[in-house]
Amino acid sequence: MKSIYFLGECMVELRVLDGATMGQSYAGDVYNSAVYLKRCFTDIATSIVTAIGQDKLSDKMLSCFKNENINTQFVFRHNSKVPGLYLIDTDAQGERSFTYWRSDAAARKIVDFLDDDVITQLGAGDMLFFSGISLAVIEESAREQFWIRLEQLKAAGVKVVFDPNYRARLWQSEDQAKQQFERALRFSDVTLPGVEDLTVLYGIDSAQQVIDFCQSFGIAEIVVKNGPESVITFVQGQLTAHHITPVTNVVDTTSAGDAFNGVYLGARLSGRSISDAVQLAATAAGTVIQHPGAIAPRDEFKKVMLAAGI
Ligand code: ADP
Repeated sequence: MKSIYFLGECMVELRVLDGATMGQSYAGDVYNSAVYLKRCFTDIATSIVTAIGQDKLSDKMLSCFKNENINTQFVFRHNSKVPGLYLIDTDAQGERSFTYWRSDAAARKIVDFLDDDVITQLGAGDMLFFSGISLAVIEESAREQFWIRLEQLKAAGVKVVFDPNYRARLWQSEDQAKQQFERALRFSDVTLPGVEDLTVLYGIDSAQQVIDFCQSFGIAEIVVKNGPESVITFVQGQLTAHHITPVTNVVDTTSAGDAFNGVYLGARLSGRSISDAVQLAATAAGTVIQHPGAIAPRDEFKKVMLAAGI
């Protein structure tokens, strides 16, 4: 059985439904990707590597992972911290705003739990995914240790996948983010960047520039998400532009990139070609954006993906 780890943070999501009522669920980029991968590729062991608390919401978050058939063996429980939380509010014009309470989240402590035993267990896996957001939430004092642990996993044969998604507010400075991103890219076997994430940090504004930039780190498989029209890949010296079908009924683009990442990696682990994997990933992302919130309804999502040939 193939296996993949998604390392990072899952948060409690609150959504204002009307003046007096809120809906509550769970979301976070690595969690979203794990959900969509597992829904499509049931025979890939899919784990989240994170830290949560001992509180009731953490219990429910864990149940939510299990309910999506995600392996929780590497979900660690911090003694005193609790999960991060965010609120989505929508104004009268339909414009969404996000407020976060995550600066003291349990997930920031994940590296504390990655001891030698855990690393030995993780070393048996096929792939580890982390993102620019995962990196940003790891406490600054623990980052050196994170790189040591990642090196050990890579040496054990785990393929490293990085999505350099950039959230300015999570970093102290652009220079700090750049330094960490470049370290991550040097470790990466696969990268799944969007064009926009590298624009602020590097002034990069085209897919070709993203490819050139990632190539300079010697990454074997580069997959550039280039908005509604195309995905560009560069693998074994071959540059390919994959046409995708734009969706006109866009309801909410939250987690489009996450769904793309999860399904792309699941397809690749299942032995699909690059172009098949891109098409399946684009279909998943194109479906997710037609539903509100990060996680689309399971049955509907699976129906579309079955029709697409998962
Ligand atoms: P994110 O900012 O979440 O990374 P992107 O805008 O890069 O999201 O989109 C990720 C993927 O979602 C794209 O590569 C594409 O496959 C799909 N996607 C996004 N917008 C559209 C759209 N309007 N129509 C079809 N697919 C889309």
